[in-house]
This record gives sequence, structure tokens and C-alpha cells, in this order.
Amino acid sequence: MSDVSIRPFLIGFPAAGLVLGFVLCVSGSEPWADLIWAISTLPVLLALLVEIVRSMSRGDFGLDIVAALSMTAALAIGQELAAVVVALMYAGGQYLEDFAEGHARREMTALLSRAPRTAMRYRDLQLEEIDVDQIAADDRLLIRQGEVVPADGTLWSGLAVLDLSALTGESLPVQRKAGGAVLSGATNAGEAFDLVASRSSEQSTYAGIVRLVEAAQHSKAPMVRLADRYAFVFLVATLAIAGITWFWTQDPVRMVAVLVVATPCPLILAVPVAIVAGLSRAAHQGILIKGGKALETMARIRSLVVDKTGTLTGGKARVVAIHAASTLTDDEMLGIAASLDQASKHAIAQTLVGEARARGLPLAIPTEVTEIPGEGIRGKLHDRTVAVGGRRYIKSQLVEPGQAASFDISAPQHAPGAVVVWLACEGKLAGRIVLADELRAGIEELLARLRALDVERIVLATGDRRDVADAVVAGLGFDAVRAELTPDQKVMVVLSERKLGPVMMVGDGVNDAPALAAADVGVAMGAKGTAASAEAADAVLLVDALDRIVPAIEIARRTRFIALESVYAGIGLSTLGMIAAAFGYLTPVEGAVLQEAIDVAVILNALRALR
Ligand code: ADP
Ligand code: MG
Repeated sequence: MSDVSIRPFLIGFPAAGLVLGFVLCVSGSEPWADLIWAISTLPVLLALLVEIVRSMSRGDFGLDIVAALSMTAALAIGQELAAVVVALMYAGGQYLEDFAEGHARREMTALLSRAPRTAMRYRDLQLEEIDVDQIAADDRLLIRQGEVVPADGTLWSGLAVLDLSALTGESLPVQRKAGGAVLSGATNAGEAFDLVASRSSEQSTYAGIVRLVEAAQHSKAPMVRLADRYAFVFLVATLAIAGITWFWTQDPVRMVAVLVVATPCPLILAVPVAIVAGLSRAAHQGILIKGGKALETMARIRSLVVDKTGTLTGGKARVVAIHAASTLTDDEMLGIAASLDQASKHAIAQTLVGEARARGLPLAIPTEVTEIPGEGIRGKLHDRTVAVGGRRYIKSQLVEPGQAASFDISAPQHAPGAVVVWLACEGKLAGRIVLADELRAGIEELLARLRALDVERIVLATGDRRDVADAVVAGLGFDAVRAELTPDQKVMVVLSERKLGPVMMVGDGVNDAPALAAADVGVAMGAKGTAASAEAADAVLLVDALDRIVPAIEIARRTRFIALESVYAGIGLSTLGMIAAAFGYLTPVEGAVLQEAIDVAVILNALRALR
């Protein structure tokens, strides 16, 4: 395709030439009109030839060749009017494509263009306006009415009313109280408030989203490549029909008419427009799909693998009991676990830190931290070696592993399905913290809706213990429950589900990242999940709502349907037109106009994916 910037000029030549030629015709100097028409075709033809040479050197044989051929052939046989009409239609079609793509992209562009550039920061009881890049953690910022929050942080005081619609499609504003978390990218829909930044702008959620959107816009969908492949078949068919027509009728005008009807084909235009429109539609609902490939695969998924903690459960766990195995008090144990877990992004870790803060416990800074994602974390607090994590992990940290088993027998029982975090201090078992981690609301309905969308297998894959996993999903109708998985084993589960068709994996943790990458479509819980999972995934839910995977699949299906429909309708109509032209029912000029009508219809159809 030609450079976007020269496209308006390219339309100008044939448009002006056409008008001037008609004026000359009316005033009786027809030969001059033909010359003008021929000359005004040339800029478009030349730009097109340059483009064809360029794409051929990349190995692409697009339908642009037909456009070039029909203009050249029309000029060669003295059909200058047809040539200039094709030139105008072709240049117009390209312009239309730009317009449609721009239109289709609008939600994503809206996300990008909202990015704030400056912020108001307090310094020595004064306010200063700074670039958003200069925001650092712990800066206190004034967020004025209507402003987009530039960095993640917490509300300093009072009440904030936030509009998250651009991020999540959620139209109702939400309220935050002092100390509440505020995500970057939200709009201040109420009075001005003060925010204490918890991260720099660049490390904040919104900047991450913007980076993802930019990446999404640059990836090329396989369906586009599929269309390219169709295009090649169509090119050959067009040339064959044109050749046969000429051979049989010995009438070059008919042959040119055939070529003209085939120019330029909606194939190349419709698919990218539909895909971008679908991506945009999904973005509007808080589902960031990282490109056409992911969107297309999502339309075809047959199996779903879901992680438990933080994905199926809300990640809103509560501490329900603390059982000591040593002389430590409950608060001391929670303080140790929370201090160490400040270094972890695990969903349960964040809960423990939150609980300790809520109890006003002082937290120490952990050093020499090493974490095995999904298993546990160890490090030093004031020269004491401590470890927090699952039972198996803590057992491996004990000097006497037998201690764990004897504690199991003596300690109070806890409800099935409770998440248990174990704690070790200097190689000795210190105790365990029991958390209730409830399922998100509406899981049963979600599963029913997924089944209705032909998702045949739904499998739970968790790093947590078998009894916990079984208890959590009891009665929900999962097809399989795979527990006590390491990150590698999660990958194996995903791969083993491939038999039926593409697999979607949904997860939130660092331990899910490899499985998300291995799945045909990895979906990360973006709002609260880890950055590693969002990076490995093909799609990110910007809202903390697992059920968004249903509209995601629905949008993907509809987009794919519309794209294919546009392709087949476009090819069908063009073929009918070519046959009509071969039998002499269409002049080259009529053919060019007809083809443009088909293009417009097909592009408008593709834009339906926006709705
Ligand atoms: P899932 O795979 O379902 O998301 P995870 O494997 O992430 O579950 O977590 C399962 C268990 O791992 C938790 O119940 C907890 O005991 C333990 N765990 C792992 N890392 C940590 C950590 N940093 N802090 C506390 N517990 C942890
Ligand atoms: Mg998880």
C-alpha cells in the first residue's frame, strides 16, 4: 500500500483529470480529453508500480497487480476514460481503507491518546507541574477534576470518585476511600484529590496497557495472511478469465472490463478492518487482545484451563486462623509472613501484607529473597532466615521434615478449600496461617455460558494441594482437576488439552506465565495479576472479572464471522461481475464503478465488527 501521506494527492490527479477531460469533451476537443485522462492516470499507476515492486521483493503477490494491469491495459487499447476511472476508484479505495482502519481503531487510539503528559506534585507545601516521567514512588500528587490518573497509587485522604470506563468499559463510577488503591488510567470524575504514587508512571498499569495496545496494533493476523493467500488464487483466476475472454472474443475492451471489475479487491481491505474493529470492540470492554492472531484463535477455542488462586477465586482472601507451632504469637507470625511477602507478587502474599497493615503491624524489610513461583518464598528478616509458602515447600526448608507431619495431627482442623500458608523460622516449623479464599461470584453461570459457546473441556490447574482444589470446585462440573502443579506441569496440562482444538489458559501468577505462553490463547488477569503473566499472555483482562472471557470469545467469533463473510461476499460479487463483463454486459467504466460499490459495501460490512 502507498504511503498514507501521499494518498490524498493521488486521488487529486485522477479526480481533476476526469473533470477537466469532461469539460474538454463537452467543448468538442475529445482527443485532448483522452490525453488529459491518460496523463492523470499516470501518477496513480506509477505509485502503484513502485508499491508492487516493493511488495514483490518481500515475496507478496497482492491484488494490486490486477489494478496495475487493468490501468495499463485500458491505456494500451485507448480506453483512457476507463483507465482514469480505475485510477480514481483505486486511490479512493485506499483512502477508504485508511478511513475504515482509523475508525476501527478508535477505541484503542482513544486509550493511547488519553495518556496524561503532566502532573501536579506537592513540594515543600507548594504545587509544581512536572512531566509524568518525573513521578517517583511516594510522590504526593494533586489529581484535579476530570484528570486522568498518571501513576498507580493510594488515596491520601477524603473520597475519590473514579471513572474507569476507558479502561474497563464499566460505566458506573467507583468510589475510593483514603488508603484505597487508585489505578493509573482512571479519570477523576469527582472533586480533586491527593494521591500518593506507589510507582513511577512508566511502571504503572496504564503505561503497561499503552505498551500492549501499541504492540497489538503492529501485529499481523494470520487471517490477513489467509486473505493474501486467497488473493493469490483470485489473481490467477482473474488473469485466466481475462485471458480466456480475450482469446474467445478477440475483444480487448471486454478483457479490460474483466480486469477492471476485479480491481481492487475487497479481500485485502475487509479482513484487517474487521479484525481491528474487533480488537477495538474488545478493548472497550476491558479486554485487551494483543493482535489479530490471538483474536482469531480465541474464536475457535474448545478447551479452557483455569488457574485457581487469584483467577477462579477472587484473590480477596481473608485470614481466618493462625496456628502456632512455636512460641510466636499470631501477630508475630503474621508480621513475619507479611514482611517477607512484601517481596512477592503472589495473590496470597498481597493478602497477607494487606492484613498485617490493617492490624497495624510493623513490617521489616526482607533481604536475600529467593522465590519459587507458586511454591513459596524465603529470605532474611533482621538476620533470621524465614520461609513462607505451601506445605511441600516449607517441608523442604525444615531441618527436621518430620515436624510438618506431627504438626498436621496436633493442629486444629480447617475447612476444606481453605488456603494454608506455612511458615518456617531458622529451619524450624513456626506455624500456619489459614485463609478463606472464596470463588468469584457467578462461576457456575460462567461455566454454563462457556459450555454454550462450545467450550468442551474446562480444567482446573493449580499449584495448590489436591484436597483444597477438589473442595473449591466441588459440584461445579469441571471436567478435570489437576493439583500440586509446578509451572512446568501447568504447561504440560495445557499441551495435553490440545486434542480437541485450541486451548485457552487463564491465570494470574508468575507460576502461570509459562502455561499462558504455551496455550494457544493465554489470558492474564491484568488488573491484579502479575506483570509476568500479562506479558506472557495473548490477552489481558483489564478488569478484575473472570467472566469477561465470555464477551471476549463472543467478540472474537463475531469478528471472524464478519471477516470471512466479507471475503466470500466480495469474491462472489466480483466473480459475478467478471462473468458479466466477459459476456459483454459491462463496459470498463461501468465495471470500475460497480467494483467500487462492492468495495464500499464490503468495508461497511467489516465495520459491523465494531458494534
Ligand atoms: P494457583 O496455581 O491456584 O494460583 P498457587 O500455586 O499460586 O495457586 O498457590 C498455591 C499455594 O502456594 C498457596 O496456597 C500458598 O500456600 C503457596 N504460596 C506460594 N507462594 C507463596 C507466597 N509468596 N506467600 C504465601 N504463600 C505462597
Ligand atoms: Mg494463581
